[in-house]
Amino acid sequence: MAVKITDICINCGACIDECPVEAIVDDSENPTGEEIYYVYPDKCVECVGYYDQPACAEACPTEGCIVWDECQEGQTCHPNRCEAGTPAVELC
Ligand code: SF4
Ligand code: SF4
Repeated sequence: MAVKITDICINCGACIDECPVEAIVDDSENPTGEEIYYVYPDKCVECVGYYDQPACAEACPTEGCIVWDECQEGQTCHPNRCEAGTPAVELC
């Protein structure tokens, strides 16, 4: 996984246009069926090469809705990512 949108998402839409690789879809296109926005983990590059830290998490108005998830082999992952489950606005 990459970054992950959790169920405290309020569907405000602030993140979706910030993503440089169009990895985010809204609730109507969420493949899990949950009524929240969704990040495709195979598309998300954790903003490496685009921004210093995840642009979606910086744009999100909630307290930590977007979190780091596990970094899987073969994915582009931020060199200063924190542990899975911690807010992606924080670097470690
Ligand atoms: S971390 Fe960056 S690449 Fe990943 S979903 Fe958020 S904005 Fe898109
Ligand atoms: S910015 Fe945050 S609360 Fe708004 S849609 Fe994106 S993840 Fe959900």
